[in-house]
Amino acid sequence: MKTWEIYAIRHATNDKRTRGVNFISDPDPTALLTLDFFCWVLKSGEDVIVVDTGVDPVKGARNGHEQVMPPPEGWAALGVDPARVETVLLTHAHYDHLGYLAALPNARFYMQAEEMAYVTGPWMEKPTFRHAYWPDEIASLVHLLFEGRLHLHGREYEVTDGISAHWVGGHCAGQEVLRVRTNRGWVVLASDALHYYEEYERGVPFAVAFSISDMIAAHDRIRELADSDGHILPAHDPRLLELYPAMSPDYVGKIIRLDVQPGMAS
Ligand SMILES: [Zn+2]
Repeated sequence: MKTWEIYAIRHATNDKRTRGVNFISDPDPTALLTLDFFCWVLKSGEDVIVVDTGVDPVKGARNGHEQVMPPPEGWAALGVDPARVETVLLTHAHYDHLGYLAALPNARFYMQAEEMAYVTGPWMEKPTFRHAYWPDEIASLVHLLFEGRLHLHGREYEVTDGISAHWVGGHCAGQEVLRVRTNRGWVVLASDALHYYEEYERGVPFAVAFSISDMIAAHDRIRELADSDGHILPAHDPRLLELYPAMSPDYVGKIIRLDVQPGMAS
């Protein structure tokens, strides 16, 4: 049974956001709540899979996000040569997950077909739905598609031994979560189906939503796929830094290991 290690690179952060910006109808809307930004690397022996590619720092800065570590620096720290990466999973196409596509020149990319239909279809006429996408990045996906380097798969997709992708929608039309077999069981990398632990703890939606009903239904699907609530990983929650250890003392606040048991990180 193949198992995977999961590493999260904290590539950016924004400590100026309020709860009212993050959650719909929050009772304490002016309180600050930091939004951290992670992308991931899955490793099993020599095998490497990159999950999402971070945010372009110029685009991030326009929304007040500060770069912490460029993803290529994180990949290097993890011993990953971007020129040799063969598989990149894109959990959705929002700009904070699609920033460094060109840094992976030989990779094949994988994404939900519904996400591609969404970002190239009529919903993008609506500013509320297109605001987290950049047309140059969507054009890059089209180019990858025509180069035979983007596979647009169906809702349920078996990536490889111990990793599968599952459509949940909600946050955007093609949002997916990943189920990853680790030494401690099945972990769900929820990506933006959960920005914060609070969303499934309290059953509340994040403020950026395509379908709130799908977003709330996703909480149940995530629980079905994970071995326990302690096996669920949100994509933007600073609490991850308290629960999981840094890869090594040199990378405190930058690279954390997520396949281990959560506890108080030292
Ligand atoms: Zn995101």
